[in-house]
Amino acid sequence: MFEKRFRAIIREFKMIKKGDRIALGLSGGKDSTTLLHALNDLKKSLPFNLVAITVDLGLRCNYGKKTLETAKRETSALGIKHYIVSFKDEIGYTLDELIEKTKTTIPCSYCGVIRRRILNKKANDLNINKLAIAHTLDDSVQTVIMNLMRNEPLRLLRYTEPLIKNECLVQRIRPFINSPETEVVAYGKLKGLKLEDKKCCPYSRNAMRALVREELNTLEASYPGTQLRIFKSFLSIQKMMRAGINEKEIKMDYCKKCSEPGAAKECMYCRFIKIING
Ligand code: SF4
Repeated sequence: MFEKRFRAIIREFKMIKKGDRIALGLSGGKDSTTLLHALNDLKKSLPFNLVAITVDLGLRCNYGKKTLETAKRETSALGIKHYIVSFKDEIGYTLDELIEKTKTTIPCSYCGVIRRRILNKKANDLNINKLAIAHTLDDSVQTVIMNLMRNEPLRLLRYTEPLIKNECLVQRIRPFINSPETEVVAYGKLKGLKLEDKKCCPYSRNAMRALVREELNTLEASYPGTQLRIFKSFLSIQKMMRAGINEKEIKMDYCKKCSEPGAAKECMYCRFIKIING
């Protein structure tokens, strides 16, 4: 059932086609490790090129070390080329050092923006055409709710597919987008994978996402199927909204500092780098 749904969503959103050059963003956590194996299995019937990229955040805690070890072990066992890019090499600080230096209360915002930039850059360097992200149904619904809370309609519109093609931005695909996290972990375990499912990043509890996750889990426990229904409603609304959009009227802004797509004056990445170095 899990594999059938996985293949069906890939077909529905035309996520992967023969000959694609796909990089998986592999943290070494339970979801991305399971996705590594699911994609590797899929390759047997739909030939495409698969590599993995891990952004080493340089976390001092056990979670950081364990997930990096898992990423190395699993890619090596499957014979998948694995690239590790260091946060510190890229911006001059590990994530721990960055948080100590800036005293930020929003570590996930820094981490997310910088990690996205690093992954996209590495994927471009490797001539990758799609970047696979292990977002589960839980992550997707949290993202939808958070974008509603932040009044970010454009982010909602492009969450499943890009609104306009841009050669600087590697297309993202999320093959677990409609698979609940509990099922991803159960599937990984049934496949015999050693998954780090108990511990999580020490900074995750500070994030707005943690609160949204907690509320959604409470709702799911009282009204089973809530997350899937929110996700399906989102897809229907997204379809209607996309149908009413003239793609030619959507213009992409480029950051004046780094020239990457983003806010016209200064993208989030450049703003964060300025604060870090300031
Ligand atoms: Fe980064 Fe936050 Fe995820 Fe930790 S929980 S890896 S800080 S985004």
